[in-house]
Amino acid sequence: MSNATTPVIPHWIDGARSESTSGRTAPVHNPATGEVIAQVALANEAEIAAAVASAQKGFEIWSEMSMARRQAIIFKFRELLNNKKTELAAIVTEEHGKVLSDAMGEIARGQEVVELATGFPHLIKGAFSENVSTGIDVYSLKQPLGVVGIISPFNFPVMVPMWFFPIAIAAGNSVIVKPSEKDPSAALWMAELWKEAGLPDGVFNVLNGDKEAVDGLLNAPEVQSISFVGSTPIAQYIYETAAKNGKRVQALGGAKNHMLVLPDADLNLVADQAVNAGYGAAGERCMALSVVLAVEPVADELIEKIKERIATLRVGNGAGNEAGEPDLGPLITAEHRAKVKNYVDIAEADGGRIVVDGRDLKVEGHEDGFFFGPTLIDNLSTESRAYTEEIFGPVLQIVRIESFEEGVKLINSGAYGNGTAIFTNDGGAARRFQHEIHVGMIGINVPIPVPVAYHSFGGWKASLFGDAKAYGVQGFDFFTREKAITSRWLDPAKHGGINLGFPQN
Ligand code: NAD
Repeated sequence: MSNATTPVIPHWIDGARSESTSGRTAPVHNPATGEVIAQVALANEAEIAAAVASAQKGFEIWSEMSMARRQAIIFKFRELLNNKKTELAAIVTEEHGKVLSDAMGEIARGQEVVELATGFPHLIKGAFSENVSTGIDVYSLKQPLGVVGIISPFNFPVMVPMWFFPIAIAAGNSVIVKPSEKDPSAALWMAELWKEAGLPDGVFNVLNGDKEAVDGLLNAPEVQSISFVGSTPIAQYIYETAAKNGKRVQALGGAKNHMLVLPDADLNLVADQAVNAGYGAAGERCMALSVVLAVEPVADELIEKIKERIATLRVGNGAGNEAGEPDLGPLITAEHRAKVKNYVDIAEADGGRIVVDGRDLKVEGHEDGFFFGPTLIDNLSTESRAYTEEIFGPVLQIVRIESFEEGVKLINSGAYGNGTAIFTNDGGAARRFQHEIHVGMIGINVPIPVPVAYHSFGGWKASLFGDAKAYGVQGFDFFTREKAITSRWLDPAKHGGINLGFPQN
């Protein structure tokens, strides 16, 4: 319920903050202190309708504006974002908890997509074929869809919406972003930036809320497409519901990313990268590393190297202090921390050896923060739920295996297919891995890489429902629909006359 002492984070509709009248709110915490710092409005039916009406109005203006003018506004947005991104990073750290440099990193990766979008005229060009038959030309146009919905998770409040909205807007659509209710302020900040950049009112809208807001977007006939990122059960629900309602949909789900380490790999490189990818952002990344598959005899040596590195990690308030910035911040909520702890308990009960235990970590001066220390588990059974399910915390698991083939089989038998990596000096093995693995994004001596903006992001299996990945050329295809036009300008002197036969070349 709303609390008189904390501010209520509103919606952004028709180019302005829009206070909620729903009477429903959810608390927003600073996860490093555990304090409730705001309440976020949870939209009702009238507010969903207002956001949709605003986006429809925005679309009418924006989709008719020349590409040159649209491009200038996107360039301006990019320039403002680049100049003011430290403000945005502070908001991300306050509500999400990740360390400031990591918040800056997420903004930089989002900005890449804005930069790609500035080149949109080239990416939404149609094609032209002259004289396909005598005097007949065929060409294609790519037009925007209309109002598009973007529903995002808590773990990247800037980057994930930016996987979609720069491209959607560049292509001439208007958008409604439904941020995670756990860290909603970044989306409002970006709305204000668009306004400053000169985007017409109604083209970028923020609808805060929970399932009711999501269902409102899924059911609104005016919303033409849904781009969703979040957990797998919700992704599947979004995919099925949006498709049933006749919408275009891409729904990215959860992950359980494995790194396969062959015995010839450089174990210092492997240990560095496993620690970076396993514990960065406290493991709350869909491209976090969860499992190291160590082909024996390397496991003992690798575990020692990882342990040494974990001992150097500092956990604390992501905003930092006089002593500098910690390496990782807290988890998003107390409930999520309890869930992560439960998975470590399950791993232990199932015979896993807890090599480093972060369950009881306390951060001095931040006793009420949602911290969880880096945890390392050895010898985990691949039957354990702690192995098969996504944990989404700073928990790295080592599974000892005997061969390359066993590693490929384990990875391919998992439910998810988001990211994976192989560490080896054997080019032939790496090539075989990239060919045989059933995963959407692969690193070779690079841990679980997020592709650059001009390649697309997306996994396989339970990590992506739908057939369009995020951003890159696939992003432009998702946010446009094509028309093919066959045209003939008759020379009155050479009129073809009546012919009821089926037209042929
Ligand atoms: P989540 O599924 O709980 O929430 C995502 C969004 O769905 C939020 O906006 C939320 O308000 C909404 N939502 C939640 N429950 C809903 C319901 N019952 N009906 C309708 N909407 C609902 O996910 P999260 O906890 O915010 O994010 C973490 C998850 O996201 C992890 O599983 C992670 O792997 C995944 N993720 C995946 C990718 C990817 O690219 N594949 C990227 C980032 C995060």
